[in-house]
Amino acid sequence: MSFRVEGMAEPVDLPSRLGILPFRNKVLLPGAIIRIRCTSPSSVMLVEQELWQKEEKGLIGVLPVRDTETAAVGSMLSPGVGNDSGERRLKGPADVLDSQKQDGKNPQELIHWHNRGVAARALHLSRGVEKPSGRVTYIVVLEGLCRFNVQELSARGTYYTARVSRLDMTKAELEQAERDPDLILLSRQFKATAMELISVLEQKQKTVGRTKVLLETVPVHRLADIFVASFEISFEEQLSMLDSVDLKVRLSKATELVDRHLQSIRVAEKITQKVEGQLSKSQKEFLLRQQMRAIKEELGDNDDDDDDMAALERKMQSAGMPPNIWKHAQRELRRLRKMQPQQPGYSSSRVYLELLANLPWQKGSEEHELDLRTAKERLDCDHYGLVKVKQRIIEYLAVRKLKPDARGPVLCFVGPPGVGKTSLASSIATALNRKFVRISLGGVKDEADIRGHRRTYVGSMPGRLIDGLKRVAVNNPVMLLDEIDKTGSDVRGDPASALLEVLDPEQNKTFNDHYLNVPFDLSKVIFVATANRVQPIPPALLDRMEVIELPGYTPEEKLKIAIKHLIPRVLDQHGLSSEFLQIPEAIVKIIIQRYTREAGVRNLERKLAALARAAAVKVAEQDCTVQLSKDVHQVTSSLLDARLAGGAEVEMEVIPMAVNGQEISDAFSSASVLVVDEAMLEKVLGPPRFDDREAAERVATPGISVGLVWTSFGGEVQFVEATAMVGKGDLHLTGQLGDVIKESAQIALTWVRARAADLKLSAAGEISLLENRDIHIHFPAGAVPKDGPSAGVTLVTSLVSLFSQRKVRADTAMTGEMTLRGLVLPVGGIKDKVLAAHRYGIKRVILPERNLKDLAEVPSAILAGMEMVIALSNLDHHIA
Ligand code: ADP
Repeated sequence: MSFRVEGMAEPVDLPSRLGILPFRNKVLLPGAIIRIRCTSPSSVMLVEQELWQKEEKGLIGVLPVRDTETAAVGSMLSPGVGNDSGERRLKGPADVLDSQKQDGKNPQELIHWHNRGVAARALHLSRGVEKPSGRVTYIVVLEGLCRFNVQELSARGTYYTARVSRLDMTKAELEQAERDPDLILLSRQFKATAMELISVLEQKQKTVGRTKVLLETVPVHRLADIFVASFEISFEEQLSMLDSVDLKVRLSKATELVDRHLQSIRVAEKITQKVEGQLSKSQKEFLLRQQMRAIKEELGDNDDDDDDMAALERKMQSAGMPPNIWKHAQRELRRLRKMQPQQPGYSSSRVYLELLANLPWQKGSEEHELDLRTAKERLDCDHYGLVKVKQRIIEYLAVRKLKPDARGPVLCFVGPPGVGKTSLASSIATALNRKFVRISLGGVKDEADIRGHRRTYVGSMPGRLIDGLKRVAVNNPVMLLDEIDKTGSDVRGDPASALLEVLDPEQNKTFNDHYLNVPFDLSKVIFVATANRVQPIPPALLDRMEVIELPGYTPEEKLKIAIKHLIPRVLDQHGLSSEFLQIPEAIVKIIIQRYTREAGVRNLERKLAALARAAAVKVAEQDCTVQLSKDVHQVTSSLLDARLAGGAEVEMEVIPMAVNGQEISDAFSSASVLVVDEAMLEKVLGPPRFDDREAAERVATPGISVGLVWTSFGGEVQFVEATAMVGKGDLHLTGQLGDVIKESAQIALTWVRARAADLKLSAAGEISLLENRDIHIHFPAGAVPKDGPSAGVTLVTSLVSLFSQRKVRADTAMTGEMTLRGLVLPVGGIKDKVLAAHRYGIKRVILPERNLKDLAEVPSAILAGMEMVIALSNLDHHIA
């Protein structure tokens, strides 16, 4: 509702009859302006006939009607009830009210007409046609002009009309009344209140400037109506305002209403100020949080976030963080609380806090009084042989027992794969009653793998150590740093330097993971490392560790390990027992000799597992077809046959569970025990992969010799092939060779050429062996990179064989570094190399003289079957 400031003319003539527009539950007061949409047939007809079609602007009466509950159907018109004016009741067509409300209510409802209304004229009319129904509607803007009294209401045609009489005073009467001193007083009072209201409103909104003009120009009795119409008051109050025909009554009522409005605005303002002032920061936060929760509920994304947070906080509290870290964590938690789950950074912050809560800041496994005898038993029970290694471990444990916080060296097991390095470390953990965690360092090139990425990185994670600690959930596990020799360094930093900090007892108290960003105490962790070779380990790191070498096993050792440890374990893993599957010693020997050629026992274990799988299938199949012993079978079948022949009813016969006093399960197990033989071996594992003839076959022509080298898989037999062809005296080398081995080849060739005459490779006068020919030396297994100096002797042998056209003995393998002057230098890994030669079935091994002492490490059983030939320190002595 609004009102116009200008052009508020008094209606000159009020016709005696007016078309009536019912106004549901609302009142139009003189001076106010309303906008109505007329859609019902009756109101459309009213507007059309009384306003639209009139050439001069017509008037209609707007009469308030009261909505009531459906009650007993009343009479058309009933005497008014209640106040001085009274109301009339009329049972009218429901669509009478559609201009205000189209809800298709019961057409029988009662309508209470007020008997006073306001004549109104249209300020604006617009006609519309609804598509597709073609229904006509009007939008009418009406201005209230003056009050009238309804003398008689009648439904003429489709809309109501009423005989009316004017209630507002005429101009002359007004002038007369305005002289009344009471009225003057009242109007002054009203204006003062109205002024006050305007100034209050002015402070709140800047648009009330025009209202002041109104106060000065419009007659006071009009002002009363206009002011009251401009704020929200109840229908009853609007009605009583309409009924206040007397000027004095109207003014005092309006003053009262305006004053009330003014007070309510003031009180509301005061409350807001007060509430705002009183709200402390936390209360404000609480309020906002409540609001946020309400909004979330409304949006439907209310997942028990708060519960979650509380759970997280509880978990953090019970994690036992040191005070400064707890502070840091709380800060982070507060930050998280303020974030929305959708916000970037929320989940990373959350994951970080989860990590903080899950890390074992205080928690460790309880350490029992260490009993060295049980520890030794434990080690013996898990591992065959390895006497020296076990002894060293016991010593290590003994020191720990005497001085639990002793900063002993870090044990580092070095040896080829499958020799039990990992399982030894795990036995140490069991002996100490600690948890075991393995951190694989193979292929780690990035320092961040150890130390983690800073949290500013996308997808940042903690390093492997912290991650491992989170997994074991105790701060004193035995931590195995597996394959520590396989870490490399590149542009992304040097993992070895990070490991240095980890292994240094001075520094690892405050190990700093970039992701974690707070120090973590690693000093309670027992570190054990493994490596295949010592050389690649950075010296600084090696310096902090005590290397314990585990060379490969001899076939006899492997056999014992298989019988004592591997077979029982494999059977157990496959749900079998020796009652179902037996692998005789002879078969294990065959597997060791012909199906595996390795320093450790990993492949052996795999082959045994393959046998167990095959047996498991067989046993599972047999489960369904339990065979009974023969005579029982006959008895039952003949019994059945007899009955069938007799045509009698067949009765089921219950076969007793014990047959001949023997339990069926016994019969089953004895009948189905599977003994692995060579046939089954071939069926399951395929034809043998290795035999002793390989060396003989390969060394069939001059120019080929057998070397012994040392790789990360332990000792290996390495053939060297040399051949000559027409050319210009060049040396070609192939087989993925490193610089050192290439140089060895050059040295060997030079030495052989220098001694050509002495070796009777050419006539004394002939200077070059290479005249018109090229030499090509190849190291087979071309895909495997090779390097190292220990092939020198082998290269010389191969070249001499080539030039002299005499074959090398196939049963002889050799190792040793060569110098240009023909000195033979000692090499490493003698035990592994001798074992490798033994695996290949080689009977003679040529070693540098100074490596003789290393033979002490080789098991005597191996040495007994082999001939050791010593290469003198200077090859020239051999020639002599
Ligand atoms: P590595 O870590 O040296 O590569 P593992 O510790 O994984 O080798 O050993 C491979 C398998 O061989 C394991 O099942 C282990 O128990 C077994 N094994 C190795 N050496 C022995 C041994 N001396 N006695 C019993 N089992 C052994």
